Amino acid sequence: MDIAELREKILKQDRRALARAITLVESGRADHRQMASDLLESLRSETSQAMRIGLSGTPGVGKSTFIESFGMYLTGQGKRVAVLAVDPSSARTGGSILGDKTRMERLSRDKNAFIRPSPSQTHLGGVARRTREAVALCEAAGFDIILIETVGVGQSETVVSEMSDLFLLLLAPAGGDELQGVKRGIMEIADLILVNKADGDLKATATRTCADYAGALRLLRKRPQDPREFPKAMTVSALEEHGLEKAWSEMCTLSDWRKAEGHWDTRRASQAQFWFHEELRQGVLVQLETAQAQAEIQENLAKVATLQMAPERAAAEVLSALNIQTNLKTRK
Ligand code: GDP
Repeated sequence: MDIAELREKILKQDRRALARAITLVESGRADHRQMASDLLESLRSETSQAMRIGLSGTPGVGKSTFIESFGMYLTGQGKRVAVLAVDPSSARTGGSILGDKTRMERLSRDKNAFIRPSPSQTHLGGVARRTREAVALCEAAGFDIILIETVGVGQSETVVSEMSDLFLLLLAPAGGDELQGVKRGIMEIADLILVNKADGDLKATATRTCADYAGALRLLRKRPQDPREFPKAMTVSALEEHGLEKAWSEMCTLSDWRKAEGHWDTRRASQAQFWFHEELRQGVLVQLETAQAQAEIQENLAKVATLQMAPERAAAEVLSALNIQTNLKTRK
């Protein structure tokens, strides 16, 4: 299938074409990369705006259960929902938990839902670009809501929040001690904290945990761009499907506000700038992996290791061999 045909089919919301296009953006082959880039460029002007929702939480907190119930709730509201994942651990754990499609069995059978397991990649930068491009493809294919899931392992939250309009943090009911286990940085990027499993025996603990987090959120820096009551903490039960409607209404309140105040577009624009810088950085890193660079690096590394050459000079020489200017003059 050529790019023009793929483009037309994606715009007609053809799911198989969408899946093929995502496979294309995930491919590492140079010709595929070129095609993927051409395809994305051709879709740029067409892209309708979806609500991109990032979702993070440690394994076992109930992410897949939540995505399934919340996704079913949304499709029940007539929305088309795509689920993507950024899973930096997939290479390490082998069989990725996020890659397991059977986790969301009901949702995966829903014709208004599209679930894409995460690509297995070792390199977070690579995963990030592919997911970002998959998001753009899903938007072009007319999905209203794109859920981008990640496990809570630090850096991946930042990556996901930089491609999301809203960011949800899913937490489990827990004693007060564990409150400190959630890194401040993650609390700061969360728009909505959902304390899951607020059902049965866990309900009272969940309510307490929620109050603890609400207190912690109040101590964080104020966000002038958001209504005063955000970020918020609330309880849900993904299993019993409680609180989903309320969670959705909070997300709508926040996104409506940001749209009305112009913060929605500002956020997307600053994200685009973030990714531009990331791509530059990645581009340089790729240059460092070439055989020529590696030979140069090894040669200079040996000199650094035996203290014959200063580290900054050794680095400047390698960079200059790659035609990257530094402010050091080198002999090469
Ligand atoms: P993930 O690893 O974050 O994707 O978590 P899962 O969705 O696989 O859920 C982990 C476990 O928690 C499973 O046994 C779920 O049945 C259970 N679970 C998920 N959501 C809830 C909930 O709302 N209430 C209760 N009681 N259990 C839940």
